Amino acid sequence: MTANSHRPSDAAARLCDERGVRLTPLRCAVLDLVVAAGRPIGAYELLDLLRQQQGKAAPPTVYRALDFLIEQGLVHRVESLNAYVGCADPAHTHAWQFLICDGCGRAVEMEDRRIKNAIAKGAADHGFVIGRQTVEITGTCADCSAGAA
Ligand SMILES: [Zn+2]
Ligand SMILES: [Zn+2]
Repeated sequence: MTANSHRPSDAAARLCDERGVRLTPLRCAVLDLVVAAGRPIGAYELLDLLRQQQGKAAPPTVYRALDFLIEQGLVHRVESLNAYVGCADPAHTHAWQFLICDGCGRAVEMEDRRIKNAIAKGAADHGFVIGRQTVEITGTCADCSAGAA
């Protein structure tokens, strides 16, 4: 057993095995592309990359693969960008927040339970039942700030 692999999909495959779901070669390829992008990537850009790799791929195929990856927590959707990023901690169910840089377009995933708890409490105070939760903050990342200075 090797400790760490460089392909994100290797860890994902193990995770899927444990959960009894199937990380098909296509799902695997989509996941690797999302993670390799290193920033939020749109479905059509993914489709282009996939076509370069595999010759042909139809939009529904990519969307279905993304749905699966999202369901398994391997990928998150960045709503404000209509794009996708690899999850920083797919082994654990969590509420996440995104810090999205206007400069380089990267999205940093942050997980702060206090934010989740504050939202849960605020919603409960209003008798509101939370469906989907999106917390996205735009601004300038540390690298871009340093570059501008
Ligand atoms: Zn995550
Ligand atoms: Zn940046």
